[in-house]
Amino acid sequence: MGLNVFNTLSRSVEPFVPLDPDGKKVGLYCCGPTVHDYAHIGNFRTFVFADVVRRYLTFRGFDVRHVMNITDVEDKIIRRVNESGKSLSEYTGEFEKAFFNDLEALGCLMPDERPHATKFIGPIIKLIKKLEENGIAYRAGDGSVYFSIEKYREAGNRYGQLLNLNLEEMRPGERVSSDEYEKESIADFALWKARVPEDGEVFWKSPWGEGRPGWHIECSAMSMELLGPSFDLHLGGEDLVFPHHEDEIAQSEGACMQCDGQKFVKYWMHGAHLLVEGKKMSKSLGNFFTLRDLLAKGSAGREVRYLMISAHYRETFNFTLDNLAGARTALGRIDECTAKLRELALGQAAAPAADSPLVTRFTEAMDDDLNVSAAWAAAFDWVRDTNRKLAAEELDAAAAATELANWEHINAVLGIETIEEKAPAEILALAEERQAARKAKDFARSDQIRDELAAQGWVIEDTPKGPRVKRA
Ligand code: AMP
Ligand code: ZN
Repeated sequence: MGLNVFNTLSRSVEPFVPLDPDGKKVGLYCCGPTVHDYAHIGNFRTFVFADVVRRYLTFRGFDVRHVMNITDVEDKIIRRVNESGKSLSEYTGEFEKAFFNDLEALGCLMPDERPHATKFIGPIIKLIKKLEENGIAYRAGDGSVYFSIEKYREAGNRYGQLLNLNLEEMRPGERVSSDEYEKESIADFALWKARVPEDGEVFWKSPWGEGRPGWHIECSAMSMELLGPSFDLHLGGEDLVFPHHEDEIAQSEGACMQCDGQKFVKYWMHGAHLLVEGKKMSKSLGNFFTLRDLLAKGSAGREVRYLMISAHYRETFNFTLDNLAGARTALGRIDECTAKLRELALGQAAAPAADSPLVTRFTEAMDDDLNVSAAWAAAFDWVRDTNRKLAAEELDAAAAATELANWEHINAVLGIETIEEKAPAEILALAEERQAARKAKDFARSDQIRDELAAQGWVIEDTPKGPRVKRA
């Protein structure tokens, strides 16, 4: 079986077949953070989900190009910039830096491309002009440019591909200027917003005068510019289905960038939300957490990551401080098992076994629309089974090295950081003795100690800060 994913577009699970005729290259776009504040753990659930999708595609042999944009200009940001008295870039730069630190703490791989909306004003303007040429964009009285849903439909397109919308209730020509709105207020939406006094110094020149782009057009322009007019996978949290993603489709397909009849995006995947203690996060309820809040309480990034990927991405996840404590226990079991394997393997390198039940079960589970619950069940069954074999002394060094390679193979997808074991006192004493021997130019003794350490599964690494003992 190959990989199957739930496509929001068809509302069904479909085999994943990339657009690339060689079946190898995959273009993946995930809507990135709006850098108006520190991202909360709900936002990070979505980004960790995107990281797992990217890692699993790589595990499955695809050559992935992962794009995650930075929304560094939109309504919320402008409001905050004005309150702060800072420049746009000063303001967003700070939160962007914090965002990437958090992403790294959660063990996410850096997306290959991280485009900023403010650096794509040229392609955004080009796209709006194309919509204007196609008769789908029009100027309103205030100088802003809007997308006409009526004209788009008249041109034979369907508005409401991701969500069934009741277009009968829509009053043609009615407009919505804000970036975020509910489906009850389907209306023509802003592509280019004419400059108003509240925008302060945040504006760009355009054929329609000074102004700034709407949020939706930013993602259409950045994704198509970097991945081409048609690409494989578009991800985001479920709240982005409407209007953001629906509008992205309308703008990209309305501009007719896919001259060959292809769709803008082949597969849309949406992650369900994260709740805290059963409720939507809110500052007034006291259940609003950023990652730094949790780290300050003593949690590790890998524990938060584990928790976020312990439930299926299409199920709402209830985050609690109690289950965060449970994450530590669960990871401790894995650490203990892998540490024992490492000790036994004595630094031997091995490839994962072709018939490993761990890898087979893990792959079967993940192929099934990323069924992480079954994937974790495979991992913990492996821990139990391996512990039994270790206790019964059934594993030699080569077998231990292979088991470790099996775990590392699947952990390339799970992305759980390995905690380095601290060397015991006698090992540290030997390392110090080796240092002294080297200083005294007693190289025979220093080599002897190195061999002794290796026999016990430790190596000395020379670092700029001096020698460090670590597991072989
Ligand atoms: P934003 O920075 O507000 O644009 O959101 C970044 C991402 O986080 C988007 O993909 C949202 O869909 C997602 N998101 C927002 N709230 C939550 C939540 N409570 N749980 C999961 N994802 C969320
Ligand atoms: Zn987006």
